[in-house]
Amino acid sequence: MNRVASLPASAGNGCGHLDLPPGLPETYTTLGSFTEWFRGSGGPMLMYHKLGPTPSGVRLRGLYVATRLFRRQLTELAAEGYRSADPGELLSSAGPGERRMVLTFDDGFENVLRLGLDPLRELGFQAIQFLVPGLLGRTNEWEQREGEVAERLMDDFQVRDWILAGHSIGAHTVNHPHLTRIPIEEAREEIRASRAMLEDRFNVRIRHFCYPFGDWSPAVRDAVAEAGFETACTTEPGLNRPNGDPRCLRRLTARHASRKWRNLGTLLRVWRAAIRRP
Ligand SMILES: [Zn+2]
Repeated sequence: MNRVASLPASAGNGCGHLDLPPGLPETYTTLGSFTEWFRGSGGPMLMYHKLGPTPSGVRLRGLYVATRLFRRQLTELAAEGYRSADPGELLSSAGPGERRMVLTFDDGFENVLRLGLDPLRELGFQAIQFLVPGLLGRTNEWEQREGEVAERLMDDFQVRDWILAGHSIGAHTVNHPHLTRIPIEEAREEIRASRAMLEDRFNVRIRHFCYPFGDWSPAVRDAVAEAGFETACTTEPGLNRPNGDPRCLRRLTARHASRKWRNLGTLLRVWRAAIRRP
């Protein structure tokens, strides 16, 4: 029996994917409690943004993953037999005993190229970066408008280095707008042009899309399909099912353990120590 098909469908958004079950952490730090759940799916998709130390003054600290933690996560996944897959591969059932996962990086930050290439190569993984072609070589202007610290985005040469290292790229619109807050005609153009610009500049086929801010609607999803994208990633947590909608794929945010889960861990340790006491 196909284990994946036997799992219950997600109630969310009619996409047919799987919601995060109660009891699991909302973000991914280590395989730990995710182990069994991952085995019953086509494979997890992890979402990263920035690698390296968190600069002072950063608002969204969770978007930075320390290089040491990134390497630890890849080491653990490699030891468990996971291999990198393309987002489209998650839409077919995994073979018996096959363990695959997708590593995604949103926005095309330069720190991912600088700090991520070595651990990815050493542990044999490939990743996809979703790029904002209107801002290549510039900075995260959409985040700075909200008061965030500036971070460099890869320029054309760096994107070529990324591709030459065996990794792939996808589209994330031209300028990183909220696609449901602009007229649908404008959204269509942001989606269509991002694909055309990346294909022209880098001479690779662009098949995968990622919604900026995870902001999408059925009309936006249709525009992504019309533009010829095979898949699109959301920021909704969960796992993907082979027969689910390929243009609202679920991902898990990879980050250091959140305070909530760290505190829970501390509480459990204290509790265990207390019951062990005579
Ligand atoms: Zn983004």
